Amino acid sequence: MGLFVDKYPDVAYEEKLRLWEEVKADERFPSYLYGCYECGICVAACPSARFYDFSPRKIAQAAAREDIELIYEQMNDDVWNCSQCFSCNRCPRQNSPGGLITILREVAVNNGLKSAQQALEGYSRIVYKIMGTGTQVSPDMLQPDAFPDWGPDVKRVSDELDLWRRALPPETLHTTKTGWHVSEQTLIELYLIWYNTGVMDMIANVDEGLNLILSDVMEEMLEEAGYDMDEYY
Ligand code: SF4
Ligand code: SF4
Repeated sequence: MGLFVDKYPDVAYEEKLRLWEEVKADERFPSYLYGCYECGICVAACPSARFYDFSPRKIAQAAAREDIELIYEQMNDDVWNCSQCFSCNRCPRQNSPGGLITILREVAVNNGLKSAQQALEGYSRIVYKIMGTGTQVSPDMLQPDAFPDWGPDVKRVSDELDLWRRALPPETLHTTKTGWHVSEQTLIELYLIWYNTGVMDMIANVDEGLNLILSDVMEEMLEEAGYDMDEYY
């Protein structure tokens, strides 16, 4: 039994255990968790911990303790607050709470958990934007401290953000074109990666309609580039 009140008593312990075994079976898992000092460095580095009731330390600790009920709760709730910036990788124990969260999310999506569908409902537009254009970075998202791992250019641009705001029409601040240009060749490579690694199947698990819309866009571009889409089904 875990130390916390079980928020999902209707789900059988065996099912929660099955999902946890799936997480542990992921080949990335051993390199994401080595134990936890409880030092809190990951929390200090985590932008999501500033805005949500969320802690990468709790994710690492629950995994290290194999607290099945808490892990199931985190898989349904907490993991969707992570922005996957991997600032927590500065863990002195070499853990990657963000990496653990990647696996937890993938298991939640691959198993069609209702919470995964609900969590991703509001992101259809973003997913569509990322997969249609290869990016979702728009100038108004750039802030010097929020994502330190994005490198020095973000600080340079964000230092002048007031100037950018006055210089650019407001609508372009929300678009990706002024934030980051992705070439057609890069998009094609991304599409091939997404088909080959099962990303499209994951999207179908949580949003079949979005999968159909995206498939139309992606298949058209891939076929124009000479790829035979029959090989991908
Ligand atoms: S990857 Fe997630 S848990 Fe890690 S620092 Fe970023 S938002 Fe926080
Ligand atoms: S930084 Fe690493 S060791 Fe410290 S609390 Fe976070 S996961 Fe645990």
